Amino acid sequence: MPFVLRVAVPVPLLQVFDYLPPRDAPPASLRPGTRLSVPFGHGRRVGILLDVGSDSPLPLDRLKPALAVLDPEPLLTGEMLDTLRWTAHYYQHPLGEVLQTALPVGLRSARLAPPGGERAWALATPATDATHASAPAKNASAAAPRAGSRAAQMLGLLARGPMNAAQLEAALPGWRSAAANLRRRGLIRTILQPATEMLRGRIAGPALTPSQQQSVDAIAGWSGAFTPILLEGITGSGKTEVYLAAIEHAIAQGRQALVLVPEIGLTPQTLRWFRERLPGTIAVLHSALADGERTRAWLSAARGQASVVLGTRSAIFTPLPRAGLIVVDEEHDASYKQQDGLRYNARDLAVVRAKALGVPVILGSATPSLETLANVEAGRYRRLHLGARPGAARVPELRVADLRGRPAPDGLAIESIAALRAGLARGEQGLIFRNRRGYAPVLMCRNCGWHAACARCDKPLTWHRGAARLRCHHCGAEQRVPPQCPQCGNVDLAPQGLGTERLEQALAKLFPGFPVVRIDRETTRRKDALDDLLTSIAPDRPGLFVGTQMLAKGHDLPNLTTVIIVGVDEGLFSVDFRASERLAQLVVQVSGRAGRALKPGTVWLQTHQPDHPLLRSLMRTGYAVAARTLLAERREAVLPPYAHMALLRAEAPAPAAVDALLQHAFELAGNPPGVTLLGPMPAPMPRRAGRSRGQLLLSADERSHLHAFLPDWLAKIRASAPARRVRWSLDVDPLDLY
Ligand SMILES: [Zn+2]
Ligand SMILES: [Zn+2]
Repeated sequence: MPFVLRVAVPVPLLQVFDYLPPRDAPPASLRPGTRLSVPFGHGRRVGILLDVGSDSPLPLDRLKPALAVLDPEPLLTGEMLDTLRWTAHYYQHPLGEVLQTALPVGLRSARLAPPGGERAWALATPATDATHASAPAKNASAAAPRAGSRAAQMLGLLARGPMNAAQLEAALPGWRSAAANLRRRGLIRTILQPATEMLRGRIAGPALTPSQQQSVDAIAGWSGAFTPILLEGITGSGKTEVYLAAIEHAIAQGRQALVLVPEIGLTPQTLRWFRERLPGTIAVLHSALADGERTRAWLSAARGQASVVLGTRSAIFTPLPRAGLIVVDEEHDASYKQQDGLRYNARDLAVVRAKALGVPVILGSATPSLETLANVEAGRYRRLHLGARPGAARVPELRVADLRGRPAPDGLAIESIAALRAGLARGEQGLIFRNRRGYAPVLMCRNCGWHAACARCDKPLTWHRGAARLRCHHCGAEQRVPPQCPQCGNVDLAPQGLGTERLEQALAKLFPGFPVVRIDRETTRRKDALDDLLTSIAPDRPGLFVGTQMLAKGHDLPNLTTVIIVGVDEGLFSVDFRASERLAQLVVQVSGRAGRALKPGTVWLQTHQPDHPLLRSLMRTGYAVAARTLLAERREAVLPPYAHMALLRAEAPAPAAVDALLQHAFELAGNPPGVTLLGPMPAPMPRRAGRSRGQLLLSADERSHLHAFLPDWLAKIRASAPARRVRWSLDVDPLDLY
């Protein structure tokens, strides 16, 4: 009987491809989930074997043999492979591309998987030769580093034996640049050592509060069965302690835990906590890792060696042969949604995987998403609530700074300035939040009204004064600042509106003698920069932080008592139906930075709408009640989570091509039962990077109606002529309508 291999190949086509087995591959090596090198077109690709059959719709003599079996053991098996098939169907994305997305970059090419083990750093020569006293410089580049420098400290540590990344991180924060430097100079090398369950000086956590203990007990009671749990608790209520205790319980049962954190949540501090507090090996997966490190971390989880996988969005695709628990921290965070290619939502996939694996999944947040709250309301999710903060810390007080009819030349209300001044005088810190980087969002001519705009996006360019550049925040285009108005020649070009850079300057002028630290994408490019900036003002010294939503996370600021939120009104009047939810979450998250220790905190919301019901509700009754009101509005308007959406996006240089595809797609749809089509219409940003953009929105009361309709419709669109002239994609459960 012949063997026919069905292989998923990473190409934008829905079908799988049939191959004959590679010559002289033993049948036992042909197991589903194994990578195969296969000929494809004029080249070769790395595909995943799905199954082995005995026939093919094609004549067997036309099938080509696969070139090689790449893995001795399959990489994607059981639940992981099933979940990925489900993912391909749910998001209507080609299976070959879905499987490729799941693999770390290092395993997407025809390279063999590295052997088990972990990377460690060791002295290039035996320890006795590298001590400062007996290391005569053989040449200039190998000279011993300056005594007391990080490099010298690192050599001292490694003289006692090789160390892995976790050990180095604990012993010598910021060691990576020293390691790179020493390696360049030939003083150290990297080795692979057997992954060992490291004996670390484990630090015991604080005693749990009664409500933390109740949550931990409840979660332990649900272990071994699919149980989605909303763990709700205000910022600083100690959700992390509950995660750690629940993970420890899972590890004690011989199980693995997967922990997802938002992109800006994976700080060195978080890593340190997990490493100090949990036994066993922790595999860390995030986008800043080198390919090799990422591959090794992924494999150590897939091989069952790591007991904890800690990572950002894409870590959801890590195989867990001994799964016991999944945790999604800050489950409301928008960074769980992938915004291109396979547009999955890692929070939602966490629930899907927990179900398939039969384990509890904890969704933690101080400001749960409306989707999750609706699931709690419907009785599908359990809810655990963490009460007051441990110790005497209090929730900060929310107040409104009314901007109506009152000048705020520096963008700061009179109340805000007074509050910051009083706090500084008491020796405390303040935080000014503004979700716009740069100096000013618009540079305008006072004489004729001209403003600098991106020629490719039709949107104003942001003035970055320090860098003396105009930058487009949508497409990245940049240009120098014109010395005069290109339209009328006037030299009086003036900034309109304000960004973090302008606020920084205003604050420095208002409060001379106090440090002002700006935190946004500009100032935090370097690795670890966020933590370095947050610790640049000593905890017991007065000072000010100004920045974007990066400030909502990171290092604790116990001496922070005043928070000013600038630009609240933009969130109140957005066309996006999720804007109110996001604003409420942001206000509560940023507020949570204040008053975390014993000092009470105050938060000022600067607005022209002091009586807006959302702000009133947040101030009087907090997020939970405000969210309930927002949910009622969504139900009324039949919007998610009470409707299920998919968005067909199209873009092309010529607007006519976009219109043609969307119109054709609309006609192909006919009148699908239970599905409403909205559009075709221009995207909220109709032009970006020189391309016209349009969309067609689909909405259904029942998810099943949507998914019954999508496959055939998309197949027809794919086969149509207009689809070949535009770039188009489908986004199931879109977060942004952009
Ligand atoms: Zn002008
Ligand atoms: Zn642009």
